[in-house]
Amino acid sequence: MKTEPAASQATRVVHAAAGGPDALRAVSPPLYLSTTFERDEHYAFPGGFDYAREANPNRTMLEEALAQLEGGVEAAAFASGMAAAMTLFQALQPGDRVVVAHDTYYGVRAMLNEVFVPWGLRVEYVDASDPHALAAALARPARLIFVETPSNPMLRVTDLAAAARLAHDAGALLACDNTMATPVFQQPLALGADIVVHATTKYLAGNHDAMGGALVTARADAFWDGIRRRQKLCGAIPSPFASWLTLRGISTLVPRMRWHDATALAIAHALAGDARVAEVLHPGLRSHPAHAVAARQSSGTGGVFSIRVAGGRDAALRVASRLRLFRRATSFGGAESLVEHRATVEGAGSPTPPDLLRLAIGLEAADDLIGDLDRALEPRR
Ligand SMILES: *Cc1c(COP(=O)(O)O)cnc(C)c1O
Repeated sequence: MKTEPAASQATRVVHAAAGGPDALRAVSPPLYLSTTFERDEHYAFPGGFDYAREANPNRTMLEEALAQLEGGVEAAAFASGMAAAMTLFQALQPGDRVVVAHDTYYGVRAMLNEVFVPWGLRVEYVDASDPHALAAALARPARLIFVETPSNPMLRVTDLAAAARLAHDAGALLACDNTMATPVFQQPLALGADIVVHATTKYLAGNHDAMGGALVTARADAFWDGIRRRQKLCGAIPSPFASWLTLRGISTLVPRMRWHDATALAIAHALAGDARVAEVLHPGLRSHPAHAVAARQSSGTGGVFSIRVAGGRDAALRVASRLRLFRRATSFGGAESLVEHRATVEGAGSPTPPDLLRLAIGLEAADDLIGDLDRALEPRR
């Protein structure tokens, strides 16, 4: 369902997630599990669908909603965030040079190093939050720049408008992983990015119960055709049910994100003055090195931020073990608050500081979560 462009974001997102119009006037979109669709007597497909790897009505509804949310012309949905990133890199050619933010999600870095470098991509990591470092990396030709802002779990911020200018001057495309901020708070295409990447597993699906990923494009060009072709040929697609769940999650995205954001910022402020916390990494705090850039390009941060616990690795793990309302689990985006010691998950060679805990603030009340953290931190001396 399309809404007047002048309508507010909350209204546009609800209507984008409604799908339809449905022949039976169902308000919630129907779920089409059929893998195959019948031809008519003229050997055409009157419903527009032929085989579910190529397209499925639920996936198409999701893709149309994602394109509207990000202000793109088209979106392609995938089985996971990693499958979306994989398809983006598959659309490049062996020999292409890719400049990647050095604290991009660790799974994306591992995929590049273990799959795409052997395949022939030339990958160079750079601190993309430093425009001089990015400019230096672009002194040599590159095909694609891949950034994530704010980054997971370090909450570094890349100036997207500046990165887009540098990319385009160098003849490269800019791709931005927008999983953390979501289009509710940040719209990379409007800031000059060419492709947006999502793990819809997180906030868009929003309930810790559906894996998915997406690419959204600013232009339906030859590069995008290559992505579409790989989506259909390689088949890393979401199931109809995962597409349906993700679209259902999107219908509540705006109020959820506002709650996550306000709660997380309140908790960050409470912890920022606490001597038991060595550092709070949250771009909404004035103390964050890129607070001004974040405030210029986004209207919120979301529910994820990190703290560095005074006392080091063991103290951080003790805090995680004592929390009662935060569940010790990876991921983010659902109603339940989660805590994670990222260095443990990322394993040997992780660049994440060992005293860091990532907090994924859910939809509980801020005061309860602040109380839980206060109890779990080492007794005040
Ligand atoms: C989770 C995540 C991914 C990977 O998504 P999956 O759905 O787990 O494959 C990529 N980027 C970011 C920022 C993420 O948080």
